[in-house]
Amino acid sequence: MLLSDKDRIFTNLYGHHDWSLKGARARGDWDGTKALLAMGHDWIVEQVKASGLRGRGGAGFPTGLKWSFMPKTVGERPHYLVVNADEGEPGTCKDRDMMRNDPHKLIEGCLIAGFAMRAHAAYIYVRGEFYREAERLEHAIAEAEEAGLLGDDACGSGWPFRVYVHKGAGAYICGEETALIQSLEGKKGQPRLKPPFPAGVGLYGCPTTVNNVESIAVVPTILRRGASWFAGIGRENNTGTKVFCISGHVNRPCNVEEAMGIPLRTLIEKHAGGVRGGWDNLLAVIPGGASVPVIPKEICDDVLMDFDALKDVKSGLGTAAVMVMDKSTDIVAAIARLSAFYMHESCGQCTPCREGAGWMSRVMDRMVAGDAEIDEIDVLEEVTRQVEGHTICALGDAAAWPIQGLIRHFRPEMERRIRERRGAGTPAAAE
Ligand code: SF4
Repeated sequence: MLLSDKDRIFTNLYGHHDWSLKGARARGDWDGTKALLAMGHDWIVEQVKASGLRGRGGAGFPTGLKWSFMPKTVGERPHYLVVNADEGEPGTCKDRDMMRNDPHKLIEGCLIAGFAMRAHAAYIYVRGEFYREAERLEHAIAEAEEAGLLGDDACGSGWPFRVYVHKGAGAYICGEETALIQSLEGKKGQPRLKPPFPAGVGLYGCPTTVNNVESIAVVPTILRRGASWFAGIGRENNTGTKVFCISGHVNRPCNVEEAMGIPLRTLIEKHAGGVRGGWDNLLAVIPGGASVPVIPKEICDDVLMDFDALKDVKSGLGTAAVMVMDKSTDIVAAIARLSAFYMHESCGQCTPCREGAGWMSRVMDRMVAGDAEIDEIDVLEEVTRQVEGHTICALGDAAAWPIQGLIRHFRPEMERRIRERRGAGTPAAAE
């Protein structure tokens, strides 16, 4: 079933209305915020837990549970909320539109989430290329301060709270939460070993929670409409609404908020005008941003768009960036391009990623040209297994998984190129 308009959280996702405080208030933002805060820190955390909200940045970790890891009392070390707005995953452009067209949802969410975890400040780390979005956020923060919604007595709650915008400088790895913290501290943006986790030792060595833009921006609506409303959308363990970014070989690329668990085919046909040339012209889809494995049409026919359903088919929801490829696509070249991206974005700190990403990219280039041996496909897969799970951060996994998906589903295409290049023509002659 499609999400009804009345259940949409991002009512100005396309920028058709006034994004300023006046327009935001007319759409219900900042309505009764003081009363929500008066319910207390722990009530807010429990409501978010009950809603079933899972992190919208890619990992899908339960948001309320993550907040509950923050210390219950504030000692000498202040608590911080950090919003990850460093949206750099290829194919992903949802946080950009939320910040551009609905900035007050994020700012109100910062206050409520920050209050829940006993923080007095939030830092929004905005991707460096998002000039316009950073400007809008700064304007919206100034409006909120002017109206007394932020400041020494935020919303008249007695709780001091401020929001700061920090611009990144274009490094994909700064979207990893500990690299982002390093960057905020003015250091080189490289991931830290975990543990310690940010809830114990985060920004400036203080308890910190890092959340994605969408995860924070949906919180005020969840509290206003009730945890059970959000939990009633989607499927068990995969609740609520989700903004999907649909790109590639579709007739109308778009961002759209839909219910979690919507069938992939319905998502593409109802909202993106269908696959170019019709559904039967579909080759494959990368369903969750560049870091998750590609799935072929046979799986796309029936798969649901949520964390668990996509995990069951050895892919992932990731950032919900749906990249559609029709039969004109050179699938080996497409995945090789992603390999080059990860080689370029590796911070170089740990050996399996630094050396492995470069090696995999070079081999993938040869696979595109067919300039390889068939046995090397197995070697390539083995190297992805050696990189996966053996690095400081998830970029190593992200470099390995797209190649694993390619080999799993498109190995015959890889072999065909090699055979053709060798001029053997038939599989039997090539052995
Ligand atoms: Fe850096 Fe890659 Fe290691 Fe992450 S996995 S810390 S990006 S070298």
